[in-house]
Amino acid sequence: MSGGAQLMWDEAVTGYNFGPGHPMDPVRLALTMRLVETLGLDGAKELKVVAAKPAGDSTLGLVHRQDYIEAVRRVSADPESATGEYGLGTEDDPAFAGMHEASALIAGQSVGAADAVWRGEALHAVNFAGGLHHAMPGGASGFCVYNDASLAIARLLESGVERVAYLDVDVHHGDGVQAAFWDDPRVLTISLHEHPRTLFPGTGWAEESGGPGAEGTAVNVPLPPGTGDAGWLRALHAVVPELLYAFGPQVLVTQHGADTHFEDPLAHLAVSVDAQRVAAESAHRWAHEYAQGRWVALGGGGYAVVDVVPRTWAHLVGIAAGVPVPPETEVPREWLQMAYARTGAPVAPMRMTDGRRPSWQDWEESGYDPADRLDQAVRAARRAVFPAHGLLP
Ligand SMILES: [Zn+2]
Repeated sequence: MSGGAQLMWDEAVTGYNFGPGHPMDPVRLALTMRLVETLGLDGAKELKVVAAKPAGDSTLGLVHRQDYIEAVRRVSADPESATGEYGLGTEDDPAFAGMHEASALIAGQSVGAADAVWRGEALHAVNFAGGLHHAMPGGASGFCVYNDASLAIARLLESGVERVAYLDVDVHHGDGVQAAFWDDPRVLTISLHEHPRTLFPGTGWAEESGGPGAEGTAVNVPLPPGTGDAGWLRALHAVVPELLYAFGPQVLVTQHGADTHFEDPLAHLAVSVDAQRVAAESAHRWAHEYAQGRWVALGGGGYAVVDVVPRTWAHLVGIAAGVPVPPETEVPREWLQMAYARTGAPVAPMRMTDGRRPSWQDWEESGYDPADRLDQAVRAARRAVFPAHGLLP
């Protein structure tokens, strides 16, 4: 098996464009790739940049209903015809010309990443254009058309993988992936997110723990608004490693939505780029400890498109490629100029850090504080699923 990593990239993924004024501005993808390039990560010895084919109908059909795929094709050819049916033509998911093609291309990169990792062509594969975790089998939702994360997992199962773990650290609940594998004991989904009472999509309660025959394979940690680095990392480390140890996945798929950041305009957590970088490092380490190193890493949400998303995902690429970018690294001048030219944003980050040094209290060592809302959330998540895995809550 190769120890190398693949970065999935086709510039045409930036055609996934809901139009002016929509928060999911594809400049976030372009600026991330330009930062990867100006930092020199794309030239790393262990990293290959690869463009996979778009997902075809039979692949999309592993997760999505045929009538939905046809509806996406129809509005893709004639955006004016979208009525809101199947979630297409809504405020969150306005139809645009080429919607099917761009969405299928992003899905193809995640499926290609999964294939590369399972065949041993790469140990790790990253598709930061992916992580479109809200798309449902029969409808678009929350800026997501085809659920590339679910499709990557479905492809792994189709290829004979018996256990896949999915970890989603986006600020929003990974509802589409949870729904796709609700009854499937072969897939463990873990989502840490802002509490459903205060944020879209309004699901992801600790009590949502999997369907009949798959009890304990959906895991939800709903975090109080305002949660910062120490709480976020405490929750992550209090829930994930024990479950991965008990579940024994053959592949780890992770979703790295950057919208937990304190600058993100759509949500209310207070996490730094530095803590997001720690989470990516932990995901990498867990892939090695619990999944023979097989790691598929995806992007996700993130709407601070100049300040946050490019840095968070460039760190992710560096970690996967075995050339982690030190936090104090200066952001290349060339990139700053490009970012200004592309967006006109007057403020851009000067360094790859927010100047934080995240630390957190270990759950086992510190004990549980019953008065603390974060600890209550962690406790509820552990109580809901740990016993099903033979773990002490
Ligand atoms: Zn999100």
